[in-house]
Amino acid sequence: MIPSSRLKVLVDAPPAPEGRYVLYWMQQSQRAGFNPALEYAVEQANALGLPTLVCFGLAAFPEANARHYDFMLRGLAEVERALAARGIGFVIRKRPPHELARELADKAALVVTDRGYLRIQRAWRQKLAEGLQRRLVQVEGDVVVPVEAASGKHEYAARTIRPRIQRLWDDYLRPLAKRPVAHPAHGLAIRSDVDLSNLPAVLAGLRIDHAVPPVRRFPAGEAAARARLAAFVSRDLARYEADRSRPETGVASNLSPYLHFGQISPVEVALAVRDRGVHSGVAVFLEELIVRRELSMNHAFYAPDYDRYEVLPGWARQTLAEHAADPRPHLYTRAQFEAGETHDPYWNAAMLEMRATGFMHNYMRMYWGKKILHWSASPEEAWETTLALNNRWFLDGRDPNSFTGVGWIFGLHDRPWGPQPVFGTVRSMGPNTFKKFDADAYVRMVDRLACAEA
Ligand SMILES: Cc1cc2nc3c(=O)[nH]c(=O)nc-3n(C[C@H](O)[C@H](O)[C@H](O)COP(=O)(O)OP(=O)(O)OC[C@H]3O[C@@H](n4cnc5c(N)ncnc54)[C@H](O)[C@@H]3O)c2cc1C
Repeated sequence: MIPSSRLKVLVDAPPAPEGRYVLYWMQQSQRAGFNPALEYAVEQANALGLPTLVCFGLAAFPEANARHYDFMLRGLAEVERALAARGIGFVIRKRPPHELARELADKAALVVTDRGYLRIQRAWRQKLAEGLQRRLVQVEGDVVVPVEAASGKHEYAARTIRPRIQRLWDDYLRPLAKRPVAHPAHGLAIRSDVDLSNLPAVLAGLRIDHAVPPVRRFPAGEAAARARLAAFVSRDLARYEADRSRPETGVASNLSPYLHFGQISPVEVALAVRDRGVHSGVAVFLEELIVRRELSMNHAFYAPDYDRYEVLPGWARQTLAEHAADPRPHLYTRAQFEAGETHDPYWNAAMLEMRATGFMHNYMRMYWGKKILHWSASPEEAWETTLALNNRWFLDGRDPNSFTGVGWIFGLHDRPWGPQPVFGTVRSMGPNTFKKFDADAYVRMVDRLACAEA
């Protein structure tokens, strides 16, 4: 049984007796394995003597471009194959997702969906629920501890949410077996209008920003995510605590693109890491994966203006305003930042890593963002620039983590530090940043990665 604390009934009605299938509208959890919404749908379908049908609406998502769609569609092609092998139907159409779900709900006994925290994801679910004549159940599968179970309010910082999450996480770190499918969906004959066997054509037909190209660094999908997890656990986890702040070592899981698209479950990741026994790398990694990541979900959920400057804490906005007129040591426009045309070779390398490969190590993300704040005409302009570049070029952009990570640059979830020009009491990053790791080795690494994409 899927734990009831992961379930939320959005429309309370009995299963429709005339239903031909149980519908799972897949949106956030884009995977066929370790997916509680999918297994819940299969359980319901088995109990009702019906097949399971999964649908996916391919729609315009704010700020998503060819890089993001390419990664997502490759993952979905794998989902389609994996579901077919289990006897579960899959239909993908170019429709706003909630509209496709509503159309297919007409012939469903009940509808299941997964959960996302961004405004658009919440609005889609709300629109589907309005006036729906079917039972609608949301299953929360992309966090370890469900957001409202972790906390009923907007948390200030990792230190305030940590004890709440740590108290609960053992209850939620449970394996999830695939349920046998009692009634295969072969006879449903419900057609897709997107051909996932021809991805270049699908991508070319989408009206999106094609100037941000797909990347090779991250092969998409569940199998690739699991391979990366296995490699990380066996090779890098033991060094994670010591080397995670040294970008040139590459010691990190690189799982964030997969987590963002729901191609791997955070519970599966946490279990694989925890199974390596008790050592400090495990604890440090679980702090990032569960406490920090789920602090971001808390922020997106309880502060739905997460993309507005005004969401930043009052003390941070005040001190940045007091220092808004401070002379900047360098001043760049968004276009100059985007092109990597600053005086700083390390900053430019970070921007190149992002542009060419869709990713950047956490430590460099911190430096990258702090310097945009340092070298922009105003904190408000810096906020716009940082968010825009983050969400345009990162594969894992447009995530609750994006808004929280960028927010942290401007004082979110942090505390006041000793005052500095431009930053005021918001934490800065100065020349000492490069005493902690081999920055020239990082530049060489980025050059190699960028060459591999060319
Ligand atoms: C300015 C800035 C922008 C950021 N933008 C994004 C973004 O767009 N998308 C995104 O997913 N993350 C973002 N982060 C958070 C973090 O940098 C990335 O999640 C991490 O670097 C991804 O690499 P990894 O998967 O190898 O992480 P690992 O170190 O292997 O950690 C495992 C997982 O834990 C989570 N995690 C790690 N560090 C953090 C953190 N500081 N906060 C929250 N969760 C964390 C991620 O889900 C990550 O995949 C940003 C951070 C900053 C400072």
